[in-house]
Amino acid sequence: MERTELNTLGEFGLIDRIKSKFTNKNVETIKGIGDDAAVIDVGDKYMLVTTDILFEGIHFDLSYTPLRHLGYKAVAVNVSDIAAMNGIAKQITVTIGLSNRISVEAIDELYEGIKFACDNYNVDLIGGDTSASASGFVISITATGFVDKDKIAYRNGAKPNDILCVTGDLGAAYFGLQTLEREKQVYLANPNMQPELTEKEYLVGKLLRPEARTDIIHELNELGVVPSSMIDISDGLASELLHICTQSGVGAMVFEDKLPIEDFTMLAATEFNVSPITAALNGGEDYQLLFTVKQSDFDKIKNMSDVLPIGYTTEDKAVLLALNSGGTATIKAQGWNHI
Ligand code: ADP
Ligand code: MG
Repeated sequence: MERTELNTLGEFGLIDRIKSKFTNKNVETIKGIGDDAAVIDVGDKYMLVTTDILFEGIHFDLSYTPLRHLGYKAVAVNVSDIAAMNGIAKQITVTIGLSNRISVEAIDELYEGIKFACDNYNVDLIGGDTSASASGFVISITATGFVDKDKIAYRNGAKPNDILCVTGDLGAAYFGLQTLEREKQVYLANPNMQPELTEKEYLVGKLLRPEARTDIIHELNELGVVPSSMIDISDGLASELLHICTQSGVGAMVFEDKLPIEDFTMLAATEFNVSPITAALNGGEDYQLLFTVKQSDFDKIKNMSDVLPIGYTTEDKAVLLALNSGGTATIKAQGWNHI
């Protein structure tokens, strides 16, 4: 039997491989694998379904992740995937795998965060599953949501010359993670050291407690604007933009000077000696929305405070960054290459 290592496929290659083995049998299945959430025809509306799993040691480190925040974040990232379809999340199920290091009080804390998120996003916790785990703490959440059929936004709907918008603040969570990792190393070297986080509160907050941008979904709805395509930024702007471009069959031009990078992020970039543009493009965990709108819709959204035009889509398939220094660079899923 032949054996292929997983890293020869990568995450997206593996998902494509799984997808290629299945065809949908039911007419209610409008969209299966390949977007932020699956789309199911339930009559008047489309129902949206998305799921996410978080593993201790892979997605979070319990030595610096308060369980309250972890619970909140696990809900928020699912609500964000529903938002990325232009939908509103309504229900979640929560499945937890418990190692024996977790106490009842710790679970209480986790569910305090989950409850806070459920109240904040107006979502009902409707079930789940509970199991022992041999390999650390695991939490998986599935969210369902709804969207009017004529308002759904897929990743594949962008047309050339649409305006590319992002809802703000890229790269902050990346430096939040760098900060916590650095403080952990300092602490391990000298457990008497107190962490120096006050200046970094903003960045750490963005990492540990991201918000799903349901506010933007409500605002777009009130303005009568349906994005021609949309995705949420979990892996980094570059990777998500490439999903939109590949699935829509378009290219893009993004302007370096339009990327929304906060002052705190700029300062941290200098301190960690990482280009703020690299963090904005590839940092990930921002959970902002990236979407396109037709030019004719731009007037309606141009005064939205947290919707920032960063470029446009093109007929040419190249996905480019227009550099402040002049010239362009190709945007790749990881990093970006100067031409
Ligand atoms: P997101 O970053 O928005 O959560 P992912 O990259 O995790 O999206 O997933 C992309 C698509 O692949 C989604 O439609 C998701 O449901 C699907 N998918 C991911 N993993 C699997 C799997 N193991 N089996 C079937 N579908 C999967
Ligand atoms: Mg997503």
